[in-house]
Amino acid sequence: MSSRPYIVGNWKMHGTRAMLSEARAIDRAAQRHMKVEVAIAPPYTLIHPVHREAEQIAVGAQDCHEQEGGAFTGEISAAMIADAGAKFVILGHSERRTHHGESDALVRAKADAALAAGLRVIMCCGESAKTREMGRAVAFVKKQLKASLPPQIESAAEKLSVAYEPIWAVGTGNAATPDNIAEMHGVIRALLVSLYGEEQGAKVRILYGGSVTPGNAAEILSVDGVDGALVGGASLTADSFMGIALAATEADDS
Ligand code: PEP
Repeated sequence: MSSRPYIVGNWKMHGTRAMLSEARAIDRAAQRHMKVEVAIAPPYTLIHPVHREAEQIAVGAQDCHEQEGGAFTGEISAAMIADAGAKFVILGHSERRTHHGESDALVRAKADAALAAGLRVIMCCGESAKTREMGRAVAFVKKQLKASLPPQIESAAEKLSVAYEPIWAVGTGNAATPDNIAEMHGVIRALLVSLYGEEQGAKVRILYGGSVTPGNAAEILSVDGVDGALVGGASLTADSFMGIALAATEADDS
């Protein structure tokens, strides 16, 4: 692993104020895992409360709107998220692409808005089971990412991460194999270098997401080219999430 492992929890639509104790426990435990960068993206309603409690972990959002403000009932802008204490935003998650019909162009516009608001971006990508069965996974991910990522990042590479999340692995208990992950992370790194140049392209972190658990994290995080993990279900309790952070510490030491 090239940089400090980045372990990010995506709480999806889970969590009321009752879960603040879990966030607090994650934050306290993260203080014992200083070699790992730990972050969580709770629902919008918990961003500010978690931010107020957190001493160690960064708090982020799971989406943002692409416009700065205006007549967009029910939407939340990147600046509002930043104002609530968010430091990053997850964009292009497969659940948003599927359930909200988000196109690559829209996801790119959101990334531009987020970076302009000073947020870090975790850009998700990943193929469906059908696309993989057809042998088109690599071509699909390259095309999706090329169209979703900001075309230029100037010197903002540290602000950008890519999360490879094969749709068939998200929330299924069926994580991708180390071979699948190594191949796709290599492809993504080459794409980043071709888009942003050798120096900037090498700085963007590439996370794996899809059924990461404390049980498989050590194996996944020691795969070549994996800089961290985006974790859904297993990020909802401090015990399981910090089990993954511990595995990241060990993978980093090995
Ligand atoms: C996710 O939603 O980003 C995710 C990876 O979920 P899970 O870990 O539950 O597969």
